[in-house]
Amino acid sequence: MKRRKFLKNSSLSTAGLISAPVLASCQEATSSATTTYENVKPIVIATWNVPNATNKAWEVLEKGGTALDAVEEGVKMEEADTNNQSVGKGGRPDRDGNVTLDACIMDSKGNCGAVVYLQNVTHAVSVARKVMEDTPHVMLAGIGAEQFAYEQGFPKENLLTEKSRLEWEEWKKESKYQPVINIENHDTIGMVAIDSEGNISGACTTSGMAYKMAGRVGDSPIIGSGLFVDNEVGGAAATGQGEEVVKTVGSFLVVELMRQGRSPQEACEEAVARIVKSNPNHKSFQVGYIAINKNGETGGYCIHSGFSYRVYSEEGHRNIESESFL
Ligand code: ASP
Repeated sequence: MKRRKFLKNSSLSTAGLISAPVLASCQEATSSATTTYENVKPIVIATWNVPNATNKAWEVLEKGGTALDAVEEGVKMEEADTNNQSVGKGGRPDRDGNVTLDACIMDSKGNCGAVVYLQNVTHAVSVARKVMEDTPHVMLAGIGAEQFAYEQGFPKENLLTEKSRLEWEEWKKESKYQPVINIENHDTIGMVAIDSEGNISGACTTSGMAYKMAGRVGDSPIIGSGLFVDNEVGGAAATGQGEEVVKTVGSFLVVELMRQGRSPQEACEEAVARIVKSNPNHKSFQVGYIAINKNGETGGYCIHSGFSYRVYSEEGHRNIESESFL
């Protein structure tokens, strides 16, 4: 809440027109809104140990590039890497054998773009950026997103590699033909960066849950769930079982908790705790969050151990094993 509005509400309070809890929450919001961030320096954080992606993003930031370019260029490295079977080309298909991609991007002005159920185009994040910059919309889905990508000059490619196809054939033999919920199988890349101007942007891209039902979309392309950025506060991104992230609007929650004064680490822990609390079966799935605030402080937390995240700043690059609830 802006200070002027708060002061106005204070006088309403004196007249007995607003309640004490409302006033308390206004005071909380006012104090966080006046937080000053000092010595903002470029930094990037990403889900999982993705050195190629963070190196690329850092290369952009180091040259004075924007956070928006940094996150796009960074996550594109994973989209193009066929060894990463959870993002872009080489991603594991849905249960019908189709590789379908979800991605979103958000800039420091609050603009965003997303694509869901995109097929045959490797760089879903760049298509999402085009949606943000060249259309009046936020999200394009399926055939419409694919058609738009071709109009924008993206090449048509077969995203199903031989390796992913053979693994899918194997899965079909064994499975009950249901989507896989596997703790180790989540490798969405979510990335948030701050540039030398102190502006924050983020991106998130995935091929989603392996062998999912055709048409299934997770959290990754949904602004507020897989990714959220507020240039006054910070940014957050999620990985893991998207359904649970969507139900709690996870990344938005992390950013709002930071706005209320929590550190990035505390905010990630609280967002995971909300999921755990409402899910007696939380042992059967993974969710992980990363976060960064305007000061460049970072944090990460997950349900199961095994999740890591990567930070690159002037102090160098680090891979951090996330703390976990279990
Ligand atoms: N969050 C992604 C989804 O639910 C999956 C992942 O992180 O691998 O689609």
